[in-house]
Amino acid sequence: MTERPPRPVRAEPREIVELKELKASNPELADAVDMQLALVEIQRRVQARVPLPRLHPDQAWLTAQQQAGRPAVRFGDIPLDWSDFRFALRQIADVLYRFTHLERSEHEQIVALCREGNALEPLVTNWYLASSGVDAGEAPARLPAGVPEALELLLLLSLRPFLARCAEVLSTIPEFSKWTHGHCPVCGWETEFAVVTPSGERRLICGRCTAQWNYGAHTCPYCANDDRSQVTSFATRDGRYRVYACDVCRRYLKAYDARSAQRPVMVSVDSIATLPLDAAAQQRGYIG
Ligand SMILES: [Zn+2]
Ligand SMILES: [Zn+2]
Repeated sequence: MTERPPRPVRAEPREIVELKELKASNPELADAVDMQLALVEIQRRVQARVPLPRLHPDQAWLTAQQQAGRPAVRFGDIPLDWSDFRFALRQIADVLYRFTHLERSEHEQIVALCREGNALEPLVTNWYLASSGVDAGEAPARLPAGVPEALELLLLLSLRPFLARCAEVLSTIPEFSKWTHGHCPVCGWETEFAVVTPSGERRLICGRCTAQWNYGAHTCPYCANDDRSQVTSFATRDGRYRVYACDVCRRYLKAYDARSAQRPVMVSVDSIATLPLDAAAQQRGYIG
């Protein structure tokens, strides 16, 4: 008998290590961290299978999209594999149900939707069209009547591994440095988080595809208010995180301050580490 060599121990990805450290130092965040760990694992597993898409948008078309404030990725550009998407959706539904973010009836409805191929594909296609604003003209309804409201979050998380690949490719093209909007130049979704870079610029991060782009340091990405007296900003005691709350539209944005940080921003970690900041912002009457 030949002895098998021991399997090499693979180092854990940085975001997993950071999440576990966060849980150890903040036991009150344990549930939120555990759910995030489960979601990150699904995300990583699916994304590893997604090839980098070949995106060469026509120059004139891209310029027109940018001038109209419309994103660069059409549904057909997404390197989507339906069986991988279905796998992600089903796994994510199970995680959200396990952590009581979905009712039993909602979970059952979503599981059924995953099984019926005919219903899922047009639903996802329409949802992207309606929520990206990639096409001019009137957008269709985001979701058909009767589906659980929580489905939107599930679709967002399930589509992320595929869209993140588009963001990877497009982030290198120079046109993106000219984008001046608060919504995403890749997929049209809203900003979810921000990072203050070591050089002091603020970059916004898309809540769907994780693309990053530069934006005014004190402009509200949700209503474009740039009157500094109408933006309330506060930081955590250690200076690691910051909140920008808009006194015009009442929404707020959280940011990771990388100026004196040991690591780059990691939204999967930083969004959980800042849950106490959400509570503080909401207590002051701001909306997430
Ligand atoms: Zn995006
Ligand atoms: Zn605002």
